[in-house]
Amino acid sequence: MNKKKSRIAVEIIISASLILGVYFFTTAKTKSPWPSRRITVDSGHRQTMGTFVRIVAVAMNEQVADKSIQTAFEQCQLVDNLMSDYKPDSELSRLNREAHKSAVKITKPTFEVLQKAIRFSELSEGAFDITIAPVVALWRKAADTNSLPTDAQLQLARSKVGYQKLILNQDKMTVRLAVKGMKLDLGGIAKGYAIDKATEAMQASGAIGGMVDIGGDIRCFGAPPPGKKTWMIGLQDPTLTDKLAPGKILLRLKLTDVAIATSGDYRRFALIEGKRYSHIIDTKTGLSSDQLSSVTVISDKAIDADALATAVTVMGTEKGLDLIEKIPQTEAILISPAPDYKITKTTGADKYIK
Ligand code: AMP
Ligand code: MG
Repeated sequence: MNKKKSRIAVEIIISASLILGVYFFTTAKTKSPWPSRRITVDSGHRQTMGTFVRIVAVAMNEQVADKSIQTAFEQCQLVDNLMSDYKPDSELSRLNREAHKSAVKITKPTFEVLQKAIRFSELSEGAFDITIAPVVALWRKAADTNSLPTDAQLQLARSKVGYQKLILNQDKMTVRLAVKGMKLDLGGIAKGYAIDKATEAMQASGAIGGMVDIGGDIRCFGAPPPGKKTWMIGLQDPTLTDKLAPGKILLRLKLTDVAIATSGDYRRFALIEGKRYSHIIDTKTGLSSDQLSSVTVISDKAIDADALATAVTVMGTEKGLDLIEKIPQTEAILISPAPDYKITKTTGADKYIK
């Protein structure tokens, strides 16, 4: 393995072990309205999208459960092959290479994600912006070389950013990047999309319940495992992860037919010149976002929860909560940075907390 590959492998292992602690899957034991003869199959952890995926299927027999897990994995793989910016032959990489020269025709899934991404940029007044890629690239390089980007480099990268310069044509299903050097990064939204597609695939395969967990972002549907009344997950306490150890559970959340996504500086970060930098970028400054330690969003769809968690991390407590309060069937739990780690919630969030 060359040095770069081995570094990436180490990063994957570190982030997987961190994230494993973020969400700890369990279920509440009570009477259930679901068929008592149902069974559960747990896929265990596999790798996808630069992180892990775990799928739990509940079905009336093992064959259906296995099949639904397999189709769900296929969906994750499909999304990764289209939207990874690490894979040079992905649709996203091709688009990033060519769409500033002329409009590039893309597939329906990628088009759908780009449309949604623009909607979330508008909703968050630019806090969520997939055109952030040139700035993300600068910070990735800074982590590799252990030296901070200069103001001039940041200014140049920022001049390529702006979702208004991302031009979609729905009739032709094409995308164009208006400025040379512009690139897209779907890291803040593609996992959520993959979770939704995997969930739909499980439902179509006959699973009566299930959970799809990609890197700690989760969607649960239908029947929980036998003997349990509801799907439950644990939200990790961000204060206890400084030593890369799995943290303790801060809140237990009941989740039935909803998705949950968490963005946080403790989940993935870069160490540059001895200081920790979040992987989420404040689009206004080009600097790593440090207003919140952790943002969890609960919503019907994982794509919404994923994009909104990233958006609120950049927006901060006041603006972030204002935004989530306005969106129906969507709640948020925010944790401020050290040393306070103060928890703030939207008005309806308590209904998910056990
Ligand atoms: P998440 O873990 O879902 O919050 O996504 C974080 C990832 O989204 C980062 O690793 C970047 O790839 C990307 N990203 C960083 N900053 C932003 C931003 N302001 N808007 C959209 N995506 C971002
Ligand atoms: Mg996100």
